[in-house]
Amino acid sequence: MAETLRAVLNELATIAPDWVRRIALPDWYKRYGQRIEDNRLPEATEKREAYAQIVGADGYYLLDCLEQSDMAVDWQSLPTVMALKATWNCYYERKVDPQSGEQSVRWKTKQELKRAGERIESPYDLEARYRSRVDTAWTGYMVHLSETYDDDECHLITHVVTTPATIHEIDCTEAIHQALINKELAPQEHFVDSAYVDAQLLVSSPKQEITLVGPTRANCSWQSKNNDAFDLSQFQVDWQHQQAICPQGKRSTSWVESVDHTGSPYIKVRFHPQDCTNCPVRSQCTKVKPGGMRSLKLMPQAEHEALTTARADQTTEEWQQRYKRRAGIEGTISQSVRAFGLRQTRYRGLAKTHLQNLAIAAAMNIDRLVNWLNGVPRAKTRISRFAALAEA
Ligand code: SF4
Repeated sequence: MAETLRAVLNELATIAPDWVRRIALPDWYKRYGQRIEDNRLPEATEKREAYAQIVGADGYYLLDCLEQSDMAVDWQSLPTVMALKATWNCYYERKVDPQSGEQSVRWKTKQELKRAGERIESPYDLEARYRSRVDTAWTGYMVHLSETYDDDECHLITHVVTTPATIHEIDCTEAIHQALINKELAPQEHFVDSAYVDAQLLVSSPKQEITLVGPTRANCSWQSKNNDAFDLSQFQVDWQHQQAICPQGKRSTSWVESVDHTGSPYIKVRFHPQDCTNCPVRSQCTKVKPGGMRSLKLMPQAEHEALTTARADQTTEEWQQRYKRRAGIEGTISQSVRAFGLRQTRYRGLAKTHLQNLAIAAAMNIDRLVNWLNGVPRAKTRISRFAALAEA
């Protein structure tokens, strides 16, 4: 917050220094004169929150001064002012007492904040977004690389997509396919990691004449983590009669079609409470109290069947051997990060960051073509001497 306010003051001080001198409070020169570093801020929670309140009040005061100013410049469209407004709107609430006219500023709780995809993270780059994945967190963008993988040919990067960090991989797969089709570079098989695969894509990709090959995400139910329990795969589905059949041979008694919060259709299936209450293997099936029943959430038929088939396929040796082809892109990502600096953007904004990523991909392709023309073999995945003993 404080760095956002400092960024606005610096920008205004450049274009309207006399105006800033008139409205700036004396404390501001100390508070916002230097870059705001986390290690210089108060450590105790109470003091930190008090500091946040002061910064909040300063921000509203500055916005009020701007509203009342007769500045000739179009301050409304300054990126730092836009960041200030959006950030204050996200993190603070201002209340005005109708009787006294007294204002109070409240620092919102975590639960009240907007989702990460809607929050501005930096006054210096309004498009950068915050994301954490496993043990990595960053503010910025995501880049998705596609490359050819023919055994005897030079492996070339065929497509680059750059998105704000909060856009999930799954939302890029179809667009990547379409872009490759438009370039007449669509693969027959597209090898991807699990983040790019879901049941809808397993159904839609063949319509684009592309077979999506990647591990599907695991079923997270407690039943699927227990070998003796009955997960979804142990139930048969009679699509014609709109019923599921449980491992005890009981047929479901309720079948309700609905849509979830993302707009994706699903089917809620329930068994009869009496069947489940009297069931001798109930503890392997459900944890609901006696009188309750097992319920299932099914995807529409095409997606359910595509996912079931994919989950069965990926356990076979043949599929695992085939999927080893994907390892090549890990080498590409490693090369792009270590040799070409892909991990850090040198620019602000999505468009320039994408341009940097395109330039890196072009440079990598030139590097690969030169090596290929000179007969330099592709680097092999390194295996430690100890691991090599196991392979032999
Ligand atoms: S608990 Fe209900 S759904 Fe589960 S196996 Fe028993 S009868 Fe079938």
